[in-house]
Amino acid sequence: MKAILAAVVAVVWWMQSPAPAELQSIVVTPPDLMAEQVSWLRARGWDARLPDEIRTVSRQEIIRMTHNPRTAGACLNGVVYLGDHLTLSIPQHASVLLHELVHIAQNGCAIPDSTRREIFEADAYATQREWLRDQGVKLVVFR
Ligand SMILES: [Zn+2]
Repeated sequence: MKAILAAVVAVVWWMQSPAPAELQSIVVTPPDLMAEQVSWLRARGWDARLPDEIRTVSRQEIIRMTHNPRTAGACLNGVVYLGDHLTLSIPQHASVLLHELVHIAQNGCAIPDSTRREIFEADAYATQREWLRDQGVKLVVFR
């Protein structure tokens, strides 16, 4: 009886255990894009820096991390995550990276309390919009 119970518990545990982490790859950004974005931000007073690392993950993984079904990027502990559907040579897509670089400049991607998070997001979207305007592109916000 004990053995059957243990087997049932094991099966339930197996069924409930999360899917194995998806393989992540490191993004090769267009060589100068990120450096340009960092200096663009610095010129506007942001204490911007390169992220510790950039990883591409599936869009589902981004949504899981941010709890936002319309987001395309995320930032966690100094690491920027970009959805693998993004093509960084497209300014709209590249602006997602800029948005995450703003979060790094704000606080290195630590998750602030909800009031400050609202302000951080508003600043990041405004800066993203301004960068796109400089690229001659009007922002269609994916949020
Ligand atoms: Zn954001």
